[in-house]
Amino acid sequence: MLDSFRQGLLASAPILLLISMAGGYWMSRRALRPVDRITATARSISIRNLSERLPVANTGDELQRLAETCNAMLARLESAVNQIKQFTADASHELRGPLSFTRTVAEVALRNPNADPESRQAFEDIVDEAAKAAILLEEMLTLARADAEASAAVREPVDLSAVVAEACSLARPLAEQRNLAFSVSCGAESLVLGDFPSLRRLVWILLDNALKYTEAPGLIEVALSAGVSEAKLLVRDSGIGIAANDLPRIFDRFYRADPSRSQVEGNGLGLAIAKWIAEMHQAQLSVASEEDKGTTFQIVFPLCRA
Ligand code: ADP
Repeated sequence: MLDSFRQGLLASAPILLLISMAGGYWMSRRALRPVDRITATARSISIRNLSERLPVANTGDELQRLAETCNAMLARLESAVNQIKQFTADASHELRGPLSFTRTVAEVALRNPNADPESRQAFEDIVDEAAKAAILLEEMLTLARADAEASAAVREPVDLSAVVAEACSLARPLAEQRNLAFSVSCGAESLVLGDFPSLRRLVWILLDNALKYTEAPGLIEVALSAGVSEAKLLVRDSGIGIAANDLPRIFDRFYRADPSRSQVEGNGLGLAIAKWIAEMHQAQLSVASEEDKGTTFQIVFPLCRA
């Protein structure tokens, strides 16, 4: 009897062990599922979607309290970030008046034929710096509006080839002036839903950078091609390129990759605006670059039916 009992025990022990392991695994997965949900949501929350909140299960336990505490912290963070955004928007707006006043006064003073050369040089510097500051303020205002989502873009069918043609007509003479070859290939009409001036600004930002960061004799190529559901725009240059460790950050606000390499003036806001305009049009903006070889920006737009 003992023998058969022992044999039965030996035979059933592994099966019982497997069943209890499977049961334990299933129960622990079930118990930790809310933690997984909280973790996944917390990971997806960034500065862009600070208004999202963690799921709160009505269980009255530590997990509920943890989710509620995190949500309260997110609410405080959201309000602090909104205050900073509002401050930036207000400051940029308020500074426009005094700045244009300074510029006008300097321009009027420059018209005085009796001004001595030193004063004239000082006034010219003021006009130049005021013009740069005005561009910076305008770009900061654009981004502040982007944060507030106040500029609901006009959504109408826009022909991308017309956008590209217009931006390129501005860039071509500048490229020729700088002794850079400039080639444009635009396919047939490619309709996207969006806003013509914003799209022109997006293409212009990429062309302006290509012009700024390419030394003569170099090449700038613009190519627009359309597939069944997507249109692809490439802006390629043979310029100084971007180092691999700078690439992930060039779309950040105020980020400039080692300015000593290019000696080019800028404020590091252009690509942040370009990215926002691309997102506004559900387009994907990406970059590939190799130092001293060149840079290619690619934008993939979803096409709309006519
Ligand atoms: P800005 O050109 O005013 O500095 P951007 O936001 O337009 O600001 O660009 C951010 C940085 O990305 C630039 O400072 C530059 O280092 C790099 N960059 C952008 N476009 C190019 C390009 N075509 N070639 C090389 N570097 C580029």
